[in-house]
Amino acid sequence: MPKLTGHCLCGQVSFEADGDIVMQGNCHCTDCQQVSGSAFATLVFVKEDAVTITGETKRFEHGVDSGNKLTKDFCTTCGSQMFGGNVGRPGMVALKAGSINEKEHIKPQFNVYASRKLDCVILDDTIPAFDKMPG
Ligand SMILES: [Zn+2]
Ligand SMILES: [Zn+2]
Repeated sequence: MPKLTGHCLCGQVSFEADGDIVMQGNCHCTDCQQVSGSAFATLVFVKEDAVTITGETKRFEHGVDSGNKLTKDFCTTCGSQMFGGNVGRPGMVALKAGSINEKEHIKPQFNVYASRKLDCVILDDTIPAFDKMPG
């Protein structure tokens, strides 16, 4: 039962998550590259009702190919990406690996959107890779 804690760059936003990590993985989709400003995003999914958030975030909502709407919550002061959500899959929150203090719990189980990964990224071949989102 890992208890995760974390915070944004400036510390205005912090969170605690009680309970188990539902799943975690690396997403190489273009949206994650764009919003993170990095090569890919490592997302750690936990149940929304297990997460307690302190501080003020702002929400950006955008549509994706599947017709779903995704949300991205970021710190209103420093802009750090904090929480991801899927309007079509309520009850789950994607924490960002980089904001989590307990780094020992960050163990991605899969790579998704591997078809869009940057050439410079070498995938861990001991975990499954999917060209798109499986399912
Ligand atoms: Zn901040
Ligand atoms: Zn993505």
